Amino acid sequence: MIVWPEQRENAERLRRRLLEMCNRRGVPVRYARELKAQDGKPAWGLANTDGIEIEYADVLRETSTLVHELAHQCLHIGPGAVEVSRRQEELEAETVAAVLLEAYGCGGQAPRERFTPRVVKCSNFLIAEIELERGLDIAQSLTNFTAALEAI
Ligand SMILES: [Zn+2]
Repeated sequence: MIVWPEQRENAERLRRRLLEMCNRRGVPVRYARELKAQDGKPAWGLANTDGIEIEYADVLRETSTLVHELAHQCLHIGPGAVEVSRRQEELEAETVAAVLLEAYGCGGQAPRERFTPRVVKCSNFLIAEIELERGLDIAQSLTNFTAALEAI
């Protein structure tokens, strides 16, 4: 697999926005050297009611894992969660991660045949949250711009 430099930059940008979003939403994200799931098997990420844990890795894997765990947070954890099989949970989280990585130019193509209403709803929710952050950034820079103009 070839990773274009642009994909890495886009992943870094997406990761930053996701972390800002988690911060705003009050979802703690912790990084760890070696993660293990409850069954003792190695894991790239974990999600539970306490937040999200991510294993240190290259930026593409970290970003993908972060979206994956956020999808679990949205779809499978907490009061609004709907019970589905473990396999279904993983498929949904994987697909949402693929959607966001594709949408933000981090490479890959999300499998269209897995776009269930739940996947679409969760992906749209996360994109809207990220874009809200972007909107805040724009508002912030406009304020700065106004302040800069007033200073002249
Ligand atoms: Zn998972």
